[in-house]
Amino acid sequence: MVATNMNPQPRAKLPARLRLRVTAAAESILRGGHPWLFAESVREQNRAGELGELAVIYDRKDGFLAVGLFDPDSPIRVRVLHSGKPQALDAAWWQARLTQTLAQREGLFDAQTTGWRCINGESGGWPGLVLDRYDATLVMKLYTAAWLPRLESLVKLVEENLAPERIVLRLSRNIQAMAAARFKKSDGQILSGAALSGPVVFMETGLRFEADVLRGQKTGFFLDQRENRRFVETLARDRTALNAFSFSGGFSLYAARGGAAAVTDLDISAHALDGARRNFALNEAIPALARCSHELVQADAFEWLGATAGRKFDLVVLDPPSLAKREPERAGAIHAYARLAALGIAALNRGGILLAASCSAHVTAAEFFGAVRASAAASGRNFSDLRTTGHAPDHAAKFKEGEYLKAIYLQMAR
Ligand code: SAH
Repeated sequence: MVATNMNPQPRAKLPARLRLRVTAAAESILRGGHPWLFAESVREQNRAGELGELAVIYDRKDGFLAVGLFDPDSPIRVRVLHSGKPQALDAAWWQARLTQTLAQREGLFDAQTTGWRCINGESGGWPGLVLDRYDATLVMKLYTAAWLPRLESLVKLVEENLAPERIVLRLSRNIQAMAAARFKKSDGQILSGAALSGPVVFMETGLRFEADVLRGQKTGFFLDQRENRRFVETLARDRTALNAFSFSGGFSLYAARGGAAAVTDLDISAHALDGARRNFALNEAIPALARCSHELVQADAFEWLGATAGRKFDLVVLDPPSLAKREPERAGAIHAYARLAALGIAALNRGGILLAASCSAHVTAAEFFGAVRASAAASGRNFSDLRTTGHAPDHAAKFKEGEYLKAIYLQMAR
């Protein structure tokens, strides 16, 4: 058990447990279950503390508040693993945490879907750590260096519980240099199991896709948009579809299987479009897909939509990368979402459907929906709201900063 007292007898030789006292404001935030303790909220600390060690956070009455991963170099000084009752984070605790995490996915996917998020960062109790499954390959992505000293035991735990063919390590850009220098770990390294030289193929809702697990964005595929792709399939029959910011064609493949007459993938990246071409080829045995005509356009979506006035579609999907990577970019991003929606609406036939998505955590769902609806109103056409969506169950967001994905479906009147 973690001592609730700030000054227990130190054990011989072992460094004293790292103990922090925090501001009253931070105390109530942590009590509310928030997973981050910021550096400026630390009032007192018994010693310097090392990367990745467990720090115990106490309240003003020396009562246990939380325990988490310490990072002396990050503004997020502690990432909470557990809060509430005092608890030792021993091997049994880690096993229980993983069992509980995996149990939350039980029943979500059938054999037609072999790619999903197994561990979803702070929202699932694993701050700064993501584990995605692509068939028999697992991709572990670290967004904080604090996991690096624990990587070996973590890999062992995952191996024992999930028995993957391999585990690929991915590192967010900001920790790559230090991971190499201090831990000899690099982005795309195989942590366990069989070597790999290219993408892996997995299934999503019966469609086959490549995931570029070694080098691709995120962990190689945008698993977070699965539920929206599934809904698009149900809207696509006999329609022509534009998939702007298509990446590897995810929305287009679903639209094609749903009976779309033609799909256009539009992306600025030739590499992404090559992926889309290969993904269509992987599924050519599906008759609806083979019947659908597939066009690839490499261009800036804002420019292309602005320049191709006159070309219209019955279904327009807009799924841009985050337009606000930082808080100061928020206002500009809302404006850009509105402009993009206006361009998408201008490319819509009467009766057509617009799907606009945003993955910017700095723009709230209300702000985003407001921007898209304002553009719809300004177009002079009548629109009806079909639905709005948020996070998929395997990507559930449990705290405000973890919420990033939202989408709105609008249909233009005939
Ligand atoms: N909808 C996709 C994910 C989109 S990710 C899916 O379901 O898998 C965003 C994509 O936008 C990336 O492929 C990126 O290459 C592309 N992109 C970024 N800026 C762009 C621009 N200005 N014009 C067109 N595509 C762009």
